[in-house]
Amino acid sequence: MSVRTRFAPSPTGFLHIGGARTALFCWLFARHHKAAFILRIEDTDEVRSTRESVDAILHSMNWLGLDWDEGPLLTKRDEGWDEKGSHGPYFQMKRTEHYKRYVKQLIDEGKAYPCYCTAEDIDAMRKLAESEKRNYRYDRRCRNLTADERKAREAQGKKFSVRFKMPEDGETVVDDGIRGQVHFDNKLRQDLVIQKTSGVPTYNFANVIDDHMMEVTHVVRGDEHLNNTPEQQQIYSALGFTPPKFAHLSMILGPDGAKLSKRHGATSVLEYRDQGFLPETMRNYLALLGWSTPESQQLFTQEELVAKFGLEGCQKNPATFDNAKLLWMNGEYIRTSTVDRLLEQAKPFLEKAELGSVDRKVLSTAVKLEQEKAKLLSDIPGLVEFFFREPNYDPKAVDKVLKAPGADKVVEELAVFLEKVEPFTEKSLEDAIRKFCEDTGRKTGQVFHPIRVAVSGKTTGPTLFGMLELLGKATVVARLKSAQKLCVQA
Ligand code: GLU
Repeated sequence: MSVRTRFAPSPTGFLHIGGARTALFCWLFARHHKAAFILRIEDTDEVRSTRESVDAILHSMNWLGLDWDEGPLLTKRDEGWDEKGSHGPYFQMKRTEHYKRYVKQLIDEGKAYPCYCTAEDIDAMRKLAESEKRNYRYDRRCRNLTADERKAREAQGKKFSVRFKMPEDGETVVDDGIRGQVHFDNKLRQDLVIQKTSGVPTYNFANVIDDHMMEVTHVVRGDEHLNNTPEQQQIYSALGFTPPKFAHLSMILGPDGAKLSKRHGATSVLEYRDQGFLPETMRNYLALLGWSTPESQQLFTQEELVAKFGLEGCQKNPATFDNAKLLWMNGEYIRTSTVDRLLEQAKPFLEKAELGSVDRKVLSTAVKLEQEKAKLLSDIPGLVEFFFREPNYDPKAVDKVLKAPGADKVVEELAVFLEKVEPFTEKSLEDAIRKFCEDTGRKTGQVFHPIRVAVSGKTTGPTLFGMLELLGKATVVARLKSAQKLCVQA
């Protein structure tokens, strides 16, 4: 049987870090096994599901480079999304006839029953459980109603939900691909609602029907679903379906040890994009949230991730989200990226910085000179802007370097000296300026620092001579001249 797996988000918000990690692991699993990867939208929560969330999920996955073989197409039309794949539709609300059919089958076979309890009844049961200091569990009062009792309730026009009959004893064993065998005592389980009074199925039921109908062989999902699995497994067996293999990924914690949430900073994947993270960084970083190789490799190409990923490397213990590591990793990716890729990825940030009409070649060279330093794509405009407009002088740099004793003379003499350097290239500038230091009896630091601050406004930046070459003689000389006024001590 060919391997098929899926990511099945509920569109009730943006794709957050936890969801993106699940999507990535499903995708890696699929690509590693050359399996079909399905994207299914679980929109049975009629109140909280939104079209904006669907859109955000599709775009987040697309940005992360997680392509899917079956599911909605990326672009939305007025009436919704077109779909691709032979096992659709891929939106649960378009599949309700299937759920109804199976609900009916379970009722007919005595494996599920209509429950006439109202929200108030349930609330009273909860309160009672609370007052008796025990966990709430539906008391199954509708489970054994006779046909006549049911008829009577229906005659009164009572609405009903449908509950699945969990076995009353024994245990359900989930053989989890990451956690091994997990035992659940059936006595402690619920008679799960599988169809709400509105006629819409619950997530737990629709999920089972779809995984069966879509021929999903492996379910990789967050560990918050482990506790739904015994009921789901019982539903599979009540319907005579073979359940897929389950694997539940460990929880993600913030640095303080609490479950990752808004409190810890950005939560949605697109926020990371907007902050200036590269998608390849996010993919690599998220892959390490709960998975590792025996040699603890940190940086992976996409091909390596696909080749090396496997459930055996997934850990049971919670993973910790570490912003500092993510930032470090982004710096690494930026440093080793091609300039063309950086320019393409940094485009929105460069556009926002309004550098004016810049020469693409100069911009490329500027980015190349600065890429060592950037941790975020959003750092790039600030790092390169002095190549295109007057520097923003950092007051500290001015105080420390330009107002230092003797700096005024250096700047003044250099403005004259550099005028004569020909060609104005990195190499010849280095030779000339080193010679200038020697001839005037100055240490290199006494000269290099003031030039750097005078032309760039900052004490740090790319290699000095490469930067001067790119700025060009006219700009360097003009800036040295105008910086002279900054050298005057107050
Ligand atoms: N729709 C569920 C969620 O978004 C996922 C269910 C599953 O993967 O089985 O959490």
